[in-house]
Amino acid sequence: MKRTVSDEMFEAARRVIPGGVNSPVRACRSVGCDPLFIKRGLGAVLTDVDDNEYIDFVCSWGPMILGHAHPSVIAAIQAAAVDGTSFGAPTPTEVDLASLVVEAVPSIEKVRFVNSGTEATMSAVRLARGYTGRNIVVKFDGCYHGHADSFLVKAGSGLLTLGIPGSPGVPEDIVKNTLSIPYNNLEILEDTLRQKAAEIACVIVEPVAGNMGCVPPAPGFLEGIRRLTKELNILLIFDEVITGFRVAYGGAQERFGITPDLTCLGKIIGGGLPVGAYGGKAEIMDCVAPDGPVYQAGTLSGNPLAMAAGIAMLKELQRPGVYTELERKSARFEEMLNGISRATGVPTQLNRVGSVMTVFFTPDPVSDFESAMRSDTERYGQHYRQMLSTGIYLAPSQFEAAFVSMAHSEKDLDTAAKMTEWSFKKLLEK
Ligand code: PMP
Repeated sequence: MKRTVSDEMFEAARRVIPGGVNSPVRACRSVGCDPLFIKRGLGAVLTDVDDNEYIDFVCSWGPMILGHAHPSVIAAIQAAAVDGTSFGAPTPTEVDLASLVVEAVPSIEKVRFVNSGTEATMSAVRLARGYTGRNIVVKFDGCYHGHADSFLVKAGSGLLTLGIPGSPGVPEDIVKNTLSIPYNNLEILEDTLRQKAAEIACVIVEPVAGNMGCVPPAPGFLEGIRRLTKELNILLIFDEVITGFRVAYGGAQERFGITPDLTCLGKIIGGGLPVGAYGGKAEIMDCVAPDGPVYQAGTLSGNPLAMAAGIAMLKELQRPGVYTELERKSARFEEMLNGISRATGVPTQLNRVGSVMTVFFTPDPVSDFESAMRSDTERYGQHYRQMLSTGIYLAPSQFEAAFVSMAHSEKDLDTAAKMTEWSFKKLLEK
């Protein structure tokens, strides 16, 4: 694998961009590599600036559920661009995408578009605080809800990958209002909520955790959160930035049959352009300005290119059989990978919900932050580098998910499985 141009670009990038990247995990430090610079994506394949090709399981960290440069999405963006890229005024496409989202997501009666997942969660929490008149936010260890101040407490994703507990620059005064408790533990949740019910605005949860690697909710966990929050009059926010339109068309809330009060979306609804959204019961959403007093705004919010991409994406996902196909392909891939683990004797735990999965390098089940942390990250790093050298592009961290897209062919998955077998055997060589 030649990487001259990537290395040159990284050197140039480091002179003008902190760490040479615009988001920390991209730097690939925890897997002992420098990043590749990508020049093109088509279907399931990425091409880097040295013309190496990779089967991509990162899928831009989730959005590319149809694969890269899907013709319908690209055509929609091109058609929208001809008419201008931003007006700062309402456009018909905002109403179209909002209607599609309201129709799809059980908890959403009204939705506001923003520009990223971080903006969505940050705004949803402000709304929950404004609506309830309370300050405390309860989150779960290892869940990541973007980089707003309130969430940088025992967060997953880049903080977990880089071993950063919180962040300088986040005032103590703010994080004192964030309580982070173990995922999949209803007892601790119940104690926490009962003790401080009068001060708690909301519980925010990734209904399938994706940012400590994929960790599914234990049976009864989401039901328990819903029951307790309802009883104690605390708002429940599902952060479906990853799971929305991914684990089912209507997200995890459709898949598990649990309806939160507010939902955050991102990634897929923008078709690969920068979009986030938060929505929920009309009664709560009507507290947002200008109808209500909770302020939230955005120059580029509802951007016409992003809306067009999102509409094209959702229309493709409405085609019959999409989610059945994703499930079938992902289940077969899981089976192949588990078989390889058994046959080679490299102990792994594969967690999967639909087309979101993580292979943890540990013999024990992974059900929360603590058990995820028992993974052998050195081994993951070696596996990552070996897979990359054979043209398989995995997430550059043990604590991120892999995504299967509609563009992955059975042959792509067979190839990835074959390379996994080779890599696992190599892990055992001394
Ligand atoms: N919530 C979840 C569950 C996420 O996975 C992410 C990003 N990976 C975010 C929020 C933040 O989204 P963004 O990176 O678009 O700000």
